[in-house]
Amino acid sequence: MAAIDSVTTEVLSDERLINVIGRVRDVDGGEGVGEAWWGIPADPPARAASPIVAVIDDLLAPRAIARDADEIERLWFELWDWGYRYADQGIFAMGLSGLDLALWDLKGKRLDQPVAALLGGPIATGIPAYASFPPLRNADLLVSETKRALDHGFTAVKLHELDPELTAHLRDHFGDDLGIMVDVNGHFDPLEAIAHGRRLSELGVIWFEEPVRPMRDRDAIGRVGAAIDCDLAGGENEHTLLDFDDLLSTGALGYLQPEITKIGGLTPARRVSALAELHNVALAPHNFRLGPALYASIQWGFTSTATRWFELPWVPEGAGFSYPAQLPALVDGKVEPLTGPGLGC
Ligand SMILES: [Mg+2]
Repeated sequence: MAAIDSVTTEVLSDERLINVIGRVRDVDGGEGVGEAWWGIPADPPARAASPIVAVIDDLLAPRAIARDADEIERLWFELWDWGYRYADQGIFAMGLSGLDLALWDLKGKRLDQPVAALLGGPIATGIPAYASFPPLRNADLLVSETKRALDHGFTAVKLHELDPELTAHLRDHFGDDLGIMVDVNGHFDPLEAIAHGRRLSELGVIWFEEPVRPMRDRDAIGRVGAAIDCDLAGGENEHTLLDFDDLLSTGALGYLQPEITKIGGLTPARRVSALAELHNVALAPHNFRLGPALYASIQWGFTSTATRWFELPWVPEGAGFSYPAQLPALVDGKVEPLTGPGLGC
């Protein structure tokens, strides 16, 4: 047994882009580093993290200290079960993610194995990755950022643009070889979403992500999916296994995008990927951080036969994440299995 000696948090921020880091230390001096969801948009931005940090520091840490760091599944279930009646979704599970990822990192480092190896080993030698842009709202900037992403080795980019003619501009400029995904973060009502989705279908996008407001409206998602020709993606704002099953039961999604720092971490993520396999949809883990959360998403994605894409954040030069991690190398547009111990960050 390696008892947990401390659970601590650290908020890293460059003003706009926040990492909420969770650290677990055991009594032997081992350390695991995880990451929680970054928060709820606030002003100043660093305050966004305070509810998540409070979950880890005030609720989870006192219950985790002195427990066996090796019993990740057992501890996860006890904490989740304890918090369930108050918050099986949202802030509590976001905080739990930070602790859970740190425990997996600690275990992998102690055994000197990548986390994917602890889960049976990677199922592929490479999985494609796309460059996920923030909203840019500018045709020239979209072109220059896409060029920069292609030079880095990406073959696909994801836009967060509300005007389909910006997508058309990119298609015209780069031709049909460029993979394009479009994410509108639930911006449209169903009729607007159908009109937008029909235009995106003409432009040959890989997927149309979270088309309707409210973004978890299953009936509306189903109507949009039935009315357009391109695949829908979604799931980053789902939480429990039941939520994912409800969403997948609409039959509307081509791609499922769980966010490992919202659902409670890697421990429940394995059950969500099994659900994607059961419903036979593609898995494309959601992520817009550069840090332990990205690396955990990759370790996890490599353990499911359903995984088709990884999301790598791609922000303009000069903006960036404070956590000292690099984007994983790309080979032919693909991420290869990570070889470092733990999450491999
Ligand atoms: Mg999204």
